[in-house]
Amino acid sequence: MRKPVMAGNWKMYKTAGETAAFFQKFGPVVAGSSHAEIVICPAFVNVPAAVEAARSTSIEVGAQDVFWLKEGAYTGEVSAPMLAAAGCKWVIIGHSERRQYFGETDETVFKKTVAALEAELRPIVCVGERLEEREAGSTETVLATQCAGGIRGLSAEQFARIVIAYEPVWAIGTGKTATPEIAGAAHRFLREYLQARFGAEPAAACRILYGGSVKPDNIKGLMAQPDIDGALVGGASLDPASFAAIVNFG
Ligand code: PEP
Repeated sequence: MRKPVMAGNWKMYKTAGETAAFFQKFGPVVAGSSHAEIVICPAFVNVPAAVEAARSTSIEVGAQDVFWLKEGAYTGEVSAPMLAAAGCKWVIIGHSERRQYFGETDETVFKKTVAALEAELRPIVCVGERLEEREAGSTETVLATQCAGGIRGLSAEQFARIVIAYEPVWAIGTGKTATPEIAGAAHRFLREYLQARFGAEPAAACRILYGGSVKPDNIKGLMAQPDIDGALVGGASLDPASFAAIVNFG
């Protein structure tokens, strides 16, 4: 009932030329992959190259961040209407690297999510605990707090249009994937939280992606967990063959 989403987060990698070269190899291999929604999130400056390369494929393009106001004197920022006009359909919000290095908070996550939805973008809202928080036994408290600040204030109609990504910070870019059981338990907790806030049906319909060192050889085990509905993939999404193997995990 929940169509998987396989999203690549390219972080600060690839030029426009490398973006086009990726799509040339990746596009044909996933051309028949209608079982999942496929999203590539390049750096802002490469969105036009990605949109152009994805034309006449079912691959959609997303951004890695967005500002919450439509326009104004905010040097360096990019607004949701600008992203939509450039051809983006999705946007990652609240990635742990933005929280860690660029002062992202649950409050800004909420404002960005609302702004993205107003521009008809589909937010992928990221949550996840740091290693010391997991070791202290506070994973669920952290996830509940991030959800409370970041998405709890959404209306039912707004909530129906978001995707959540559970990304344990200790698993991102480290090669330490959460085991399917650890990831599955966190996803189950998140779905229960969503059920309490938004109701059983909306919570059951919400896609919750896993992110953190997803690779071709661990995606199948992760996807076997009932509450894991796809993946947000960093490093392994940069190589066309490896991301195609993740998309076509079955
Ligand atoms: C990410 O950037 O969201 C991510 C999960 O990275 P990686 O797959 O490299 O751990």
